[in-house]
Amino acid sequence: MKDKLAIFGGQAQRETYLPYGRQSISKEDEEAVLNIMRGDYLTTGPTIERFEEAVASCVGTDYAVAFSSGTAALHGAAFAAGIQAEDEVIVTPMSFAASANCILYCGGKAVFSDICKETMNLDIDKIEEKINHKTKMIIPVAFAGQTLDMDKLMTLANKHNLTVLLDGAHALGSKYKGEPVGRKADMTMFSFHPVKPITTAEGGVIVTNNYELYQKMKLFCSHGITRDRELMTDDHGPWYYEQILLGYNYRLTDLQAALGISQIKRLDEFILKRRAIVSYYNKAFKNLDTLQPLLEKEYSESGYHIYVIQLQLDKLNGNRKEIFQALQAENIGVNVHYLPIYLLPYYRELGYEKGLCPISEEVYKSIITLPLYPDMNMDDAKDVVSAVKKVLSYYEKNDE
Ligand SMILES: *Cc1c(COP(=O)(O)O)cnc(C)c1O
Repeated sequence: MKDKLAIFGGQAQRETYLPYGRQSISKEDEEAVLNIMRGDYLTTGPTIERFEEAVASCVGTDYAVAFSSGTAALHGAAFAAGIQAEDEVIVTPMSFAASANCILYCGGKAVFSDICKETMNLDIDKIEEKINHKTKMIIPVAFAGQTLDMDKLMTLANKHNLTVLLDGAHALGSKYKGEPVGRKADMTMFSFHPVKPITTAEGGVIVTNNYELYQKMKLFCSHGITRDRELMTDDHGPWYYEQILLGYNYRLTDLQAALGISQIKRLDEFILKRRAIVSYYNKAFKNLDTLQPLLEKEYSESGYHIYVIQLQLDKLNGNRKEIFQALQAENIGVNVHYLPIYLLPYYRELGYEKGLCPISEEVYKSIITLPLYPDMNMDDAKDVVSAVKKVLSYYEKNDE
């Protein structure tokens, strides 16, 4: 009775649970961290700068600033952009809360703008109607690794004199028009949380070509304190430092930076593996009309942080929750990316209402994220495909 769904007492597709994402740690990664533990600096030593240089050179920007998390990095970037009370920032609702929280940290107002269904990225054509004299910045997300049309977005932003902070948490190693993502926006954030393209356990970075923004973020992530004689107003001697703005302790450690340096060497290999699994999934799902994978635009070569399918609910008898639970019962680690941010209770309290971004809300009802990570093997991928086909064929409408 292989075809009976596990959720109804049938045999599960797999014996062991396959997570939706997972870090890949090699012997070299372990050695890199151990070396730091045996050395002089556990934090704020020379390894941080080496990691920042490795990220900047991987992306092709002048500067990179390491932070203790991607969320801290977004906060630093919003601060550097000068966001403060009364300022408005346009942001996608189809993201993790941190994309919008960074606006609120600075006292600004998050203005949510709707997405394109096929890519789940901000719809550039809908942004302009949200712009007014209070608007200071736009925060798009490179959803799953694919950016929106950055040239078109930057033209719009420049026309209105707006800063663009790309939330590239999913996108280290992804490409836009053949070049690494992270070169076009004023600032781009990459996250190093364990499920992201590379990991430092927790960690994030902002890359930029703008020296002024770079300098502000450097100060911000370490209390706003400087020892740079050129920035100081006084000098009592070699011990002396000054705090010149209100910063935080958002520093990455040398332990983490060493892991990051080791991981970034493996990025190309990680992305090849992710793309190989994605092309296998795409082929396997091509003839199913009960689901639709994300569309990859011609300008994009995504690193595929996640693989999201949209259920074609009009062709199914079950809803997303039933299908999600059925896949879980088959031991397939599924997830949902994302609930529109403004529907979270904290945002609802602030006065955001249902119906604000109808496409995001509609898409939310249909999405499921399937397992995808570099150390998955082809048998794992086959299990995912078989489980999806098994579950969807059970729920498929047969009314013709
Ligand atoms: C993971 C993630 C973040 C936050 O990064 P952390 O490093 O976990 O703080 C922000 N935005 C998006 C889109 C993310 O996926």
